[in-house]
Amino acid sequence: MNIQVQCCGIVILLLIWYFSLRQRSLGLEAERLFLVTMGVTSFCVIMDITSIVAINCHELISAFLLALICKTYIVSLIWVGYFGLIYSSTDFIRTRAERKRQNRIYTIIVLTGTVLIYVLPIYYYLSGDIVYTYGPSCTTTYIFALLFVLVTLYKVGIRGKEMNPKRRRAIVIWMLIWIIAAVTQFLNANLLLVGFASVLGIVILFFELENPEANLDRETGAYNAHALGEYTKLLYEKRERFSAMLLALNDMAVMGNADSSIQQDMTLREIVRYVEKLKEVKIFKTLERELVFIVSDEQRLQEVFQDIKGHIEGIWEERRSDGQARVSPYYVLLPDSLLIGSVEELFLMLRHFRVGKAENPEENSILLDHRKIGHYKEREETEALIRRAIEEDRIEVFYQPIYSTKHGKFTSAEALVRIRDEKGEIVPPGRFIPVAEKNGLIARIGEIVFEKVCAFVRKHNLMEDYGMKYIEVNLSVRQCEDTRLAENYIKIMQKYHLDPSCINLEITESASIKTRKNLLENMQVLIDYGVKFSLDDFGNGESNLNYIVDMPVSIVKFDRDMSQAYFANQKAKFVMEASMHMIHEMQLEIVSEGVETKEQMEAISALGIDYIQGYYFSRPIPEAEFLEFIKKGNRDASAVPETAAEVQSLQQSPESIPR
Ligand code: C2E
Ligand code: MG
Ligand code: MG
Repeated sequence: MNIQVQCCGIVILLLIWYFSLRQRSLGLEAERLFLVTMGVTSFCVIMDITSIVAINCHELISAFLLALICKTYIVSLIWVGYFGLIYSSTDFIRTRAERKRQNRIYTIIVLTGTVLIYVLPIYYYLSGDIVYTYGPSCTTTYIFALLFVLVTLYKVGIRGKEMNPKRRRAIVIWMLIWIIAAVTQFLNANLLLVGFASVLGIVILFFELENPEANLDRETGAYNAHALGEYTKLLYEKRERFSAMLLALNDMAVMGNADSSIQQDMTLREIVRYVEKLKEVKIFKTLERELVFIVSDEQRLQEVFQDIKGHIEGIWEERRSDGQARVSPYYVLLPDSLLIGSVEELFLMLRHFRVGKAENPEENSILLDHRKIGHYKEREETEALIRRAIEEDRIEVFYQPIYSTKHGKFTSAEALVRIRDEKGEIVPPGRFIPVAEKNGLIARIGEIVFEKVCAFVRKHNLMEDYGMKYIEVNLSVRQCEDTRLAENYIKIMQKYHLDPSCINLEITESASIKTRKNLLENMQVLIDYGVKFSLDDFGNGESNLNYIVDMPVSIVKFDRDMSQAYFANQKAKFVMEASMHMIHEMQLEIVSEGVETKEQMEAISALGIDYIQGYYFSRPIPEAEFLEFIKKGNRDASAVPETAAEVQSLQQSPESIPR
C-alpha cells in the first residue's frame, strides 16, 4: 500500500512541476525557495520509493548500499523541514544580511542532523507488504524534523503579523499535517505517511500562493501590482540597477456605452500584447490601471519608450479617425532605479510625477533625472518638516517694525512666519511657504500665525501700551480660496477680544478669476467687520495697477525690488513716483519695503511715502525683542537713528537668515 501512496505523491508533484514551469517566472525570492522546496520534496518521495524497493530487494544489494539509500531518504526529510522553515521566513526577513545570519544557524542544524543520521545505525523491518525502518538513525530524523516544524510554527507565531496571511495559513496547515503524519508514523511504524505529508504541503502552498497565475493580472495578462511590489523589492534588495517606465492613460474619454474600466482594460490589453513581443521587458499593471515596464538599463528604456509611444500613436491615429476613442498617454521614465533609495519611495515618486504636468506637452513624458528627484526629495522633506512643526507647535511669528514717516515713529509691524527646526534653528519662509502653498498646508500655517498674532497683540496691549496702530498679517492666495476664511478669522479675533482695526491683512495678486471671486467675498465680510487690507508685493513684476482699482485695499506695499530699483535706475524712479501719486490720488497709503540704508530711507521719506519697512530699521525679530525694540525706538518722537552706532544697534538681530 505504501508504495502506491508515494507513487500518487510523485504524480501530484509532476503536475505541479508542469503548472509551475509553464508560466514565465519573475525570479522572486519566495518563488525560488518554493521551487527548491518542491525539488527537495520530489527527491524525498523518489528516495522513499527507492528505499521501499531496496528493502524488498535486500538480498540483491549490499548492506552498505541499502543503508545509504534508506538514510538518504530520511535525511531528505529533514531537508524538506529545513527549506520549509526558510521559505516561511521570506515575508519577515527583509535584509540579505539578516537572511544570511539566520540561514547559517539553520544550516548548521540541518548538517548536524545529516551527519548524525548517516553515522547512527538503522534497522529494517520487512514482512509481506509491510516495510519500514527504525533505530537511532530514524529517531534522530524525528527529532530534527520536529525541531524544524516547531521552529517554523514558533516563527510564524511571533512574526505572523508581518507575513502574507495566505502564506501564514498555508504554512500552519502544512506543519500540522506533518505533525499528524509524524505522530501516526511514530506510533504505527508501518504507515509511511511523512513523505506524503510533504507532498500535501507543496500542494497547499501551490494553490494558496505559488501558483504563478497569482502574479498575473487576469484582464491584461501583465504581472499584477503585488508582483510589481515583490519584484522591485527584490531588485532593490540585491541593489540590482534597473530602468522603469510608467504609462498612464489620462483623460480616457470613451465613446459608446461600455463601462470605462472594461474599456480601459481592453486598451491596456492591446498595449500589453504589443509589448510582450518586445524583448527584455517585464510588464506590470498597477491598481490604478497604469502599466509599468521594467527593463535593464537606460538605453533599453529609451528604445522601449520610443517603440511603445510610436505604437500607441499609430493605433490612436486610426481610432481617432474612426471617432472611436480618445486617449492621452502620459509617460514617466526613470532611467536609473538607484537614483531612488527604496521601493516605497519609487512608488510614491512615480505616483507623484504621474499626475504632474509634462515639461513638454508634445512629448507627454517626463524623465526623472537627478535634479528632479533631488527637488522631489527636498519637497518631501520640507513637507515633513512643516507637518512636524505644526504638530509640535514649532511655528513662530517674527515681527518687522514699520516706520511711519508722518508720525516719525514705529506705528505698525509685519508678522512673518518662521519654523524652528528640531535643532532649534530658524527655517526661513522662502523654503517652506512655496511647498505649503502647493500642498495646502499654508491654510493651517496661516491660521496658526493669525491666532498667534492675535494672542500677542492682546497679551501685550500693543495698541495701548506700545503705540501700534495695526499689525500686518500675510494671507496666501490659497487661503483666500476658502469660503470660510472670513468666518474663521472673525472667530479668532473674537476669541481674543480684538478690535478688528488692529489687523491689516496683506494679499497678493491672484491669477484665477475663481480665486478672485472668493477673495473678494472674504474681503467684504472682513472689511464689514472692521479689518483693513494691504496689497503686498506691488512692483515685483506680476502686479498691475488695475488690480489696485479692483481690490478694496487701504495700503499698497511697494516691493523690495521696486524700492531698490528707485535708486539704481532713472526710469524706475519715474515709475515709482508716478505710481505713488496715482495711489495717493486714490486715497490709499504706501509702504516701501526693503529699505536698507540711511540714504534710501531719507530719499524715500522725502519722496512722500507714508511708511518704511526694511533692514535699515530692523530685520524681522522674535516677540520679546520686538517689544524691546519698539519701546526703545518710540521712546522719543524722532525714532530715526542718526549715528552709525545707533543704526548698528537697531540692525542687530539674532536672525541669521541668508537672503
Ligand atoms: P513679504 O510679505 O513681502 O515680506 C517681506 C519680506 O521681505 C520678509 O521676508 C522680510 O524679511 C523681507 N525684508 C524686509 N525688509 C528687507 C530688507 O531691507 N532687505 C531684504 N533683503 N529683505 C527685507 P521673509 O520674512 O523671508 O518672508 C518672505 C515671504 O514669505 C513674505 O514676503 C511673504 O510672502 C511670505 N510669508 C512670510 N510670512 C508669511 C505668513 O505668515 N503667511 C504667508 N502666507 N506668507 C508669509
Ligand atoms: Mg507681506
Ligand atoms: Mg512684500
